[in-house]
Amino acid sequence: MNEVNWAGNVRYGSTRIARPTTIDEARALVAGADAVKALGSRHSFTGIADTGGIHISLAGLDVPIRIDAARQRVRVGGGVRYGELAQHLERNGWALATLASLPHISVAGAISTGTHGSGVGVPSLAAAVTGLDLLTSTGDLVAIGEGDADLRGAVVGLGALGLVTTVELAIEPSYEVAQTVYEQVPFDAVTTGFDEIMRSAHSVSLFTTLRDDDHVDQVWRKARTDAAVRPLPASLIDREATRPRHPLPGVSAASCTVQGGEPGRWLDRIPHFRLEFTPSNGDELQSEYLVAHEHGPDALAAVRDLAELLRPVLQVCEVRTIASDDLWLSPASGRDSVALHFTWTADGEGVARVLPDLEAALAPFAPRPHWGKVFAPRPVEAWAELYPQWQGFRELRDRLDARGAFRNDFLRGLGL
Ligand SMILES: Cc1cc2nc3c(=O)[nH]c(=O)nc-3n(C[C@H](O)[C@H](O)[C@H](O)COP(=O)(O)OP(=O)(O)OC[C@H]3O[C@@H](n4cnc5c(N)ncnc54)[C@H](O)[C@@H]3O)c2cc1C
Repeated sequence: MNEVNWAGNVRYGSTRIARPTTIDEARALVAGADAVKALGSRHSFTGIADTGGIHISLAGLDVPIRIDAARQRVRVGGGVRYGELAQHLERNGWALATLASLPHISVAGAISTGTHGSGVGVPSLAAAVTGLDLLTSTGDLVAIGEGDADLRGAVVGLGALGLVTTVELAIEPSYEVAQTVYEQVPFDAVTTGFDEIMRSAHSVSLFTTLRDDDHVDQVWRKARTDAAVRPLPASLIDREATRPRHPLPGVSAASCTVQGGEPGRWLDRIPHFRLEFTPSNGDELQSEYLVAHEHGPDALAAVRDLAELLRPVLQVCEVRTIASDDLWLSPASGRDSVALHFTWTADGEGVARVLPDLEAALAPFAPRPHWGKVFAPRPVEAWAELYPQWQGFRELRDRLDARGAFRNDFLRGLGL
């Protein structure tokens, strides 16, 4: 087969992609396969979604989206993309607390890697999960609900536990957001006023190409219009962009969501990129590391010290914040976090060469790599040090996938 991930840097080893439309079809496929793996929208840059057996896409699974207004919950098929879910919620007056930078990703694929947006006090997309149905390698459909002891381990499941056929998420009444971009913000002000800037709106992102030693290229603020107005940090005053901006230098902002402080629907402002366009650049690799929030400014300083090394392969570095959650393998598990993201060029060898130095510079801050973005291999013992519930996850995996049908090289590399 000749199928690749979105970035084209992972060539899948699967023999075919099956697209069941019913749970029973999916059940037969899983139970009859030696090796099997769910495939989401293919936006991960690691081999996390790979398999030597059958790939199963649940994008066409016939599961209606159901809103439970009384409980403020929605049930949705795991293969549905956030962009489609968001439209459905909005039509019915509901919203999610956060979205990733792109709405193109599938719900189950995103939660399986701990995907997040930005915001002090805003946890990852996975933290909104209140239940899921898991089709395990025995062909059993296991319902894991709110309050179930396995839920905290199963949500960020790395595709290791089974097929997530449906997901239940917490929702809230729809709201509006105004997005404003600021440019050329002095780096010193960002470092000394880091918390003030990151707390100044519902969601804030910093973008630096590390090409200007003195300035952060862009600051994106997404403010909810139903929240109390927070004062604009002095370092952002008079620095509002005069026209729409793309985070990457020289790229048209046509693919970006509306800026300029004009209020609009939450789903049209929280992602950086619009569903109908290619997100980001398309010709790229990505890495991301989450550190405890209090280490954010020092970790950013460590990255700046490597500017010369990183520049040849760096398109842009984005800094975001994520509130802590209690999901076992969530990179934000147990600690409010700052995420240092890197959009690289598509030069895989060049990126692989700089990652060890970057990770060594961040090592004092116990960085947790994003599961869906490239990171350097490390000894398997390292994972249990980063994740207190590592052994618990291993036991959960052994129980739910005793025959190892969902194992792949990525998981073996983690010692799972
Ligand atoms: C342009 C771009 C922008 C991005 N922006 C962000 C961002 O803002 N924030 C962020 O945190 N990440 C971001 N990412 C990373 C992305 O969100 C993650 O890699 C996410 O996991 C991709 O979801 P997917 O549907 O493509 O899953 P895939 O990459 O297809 O799969 C990921 C994992 O989920 C598993 N999986 C998929 N579907 C199921 C299922 N139904 N049941 C069980 N397991 C399943 C797969 O087996 C695999 O293990 C970005 C990626 C790109 C390419």
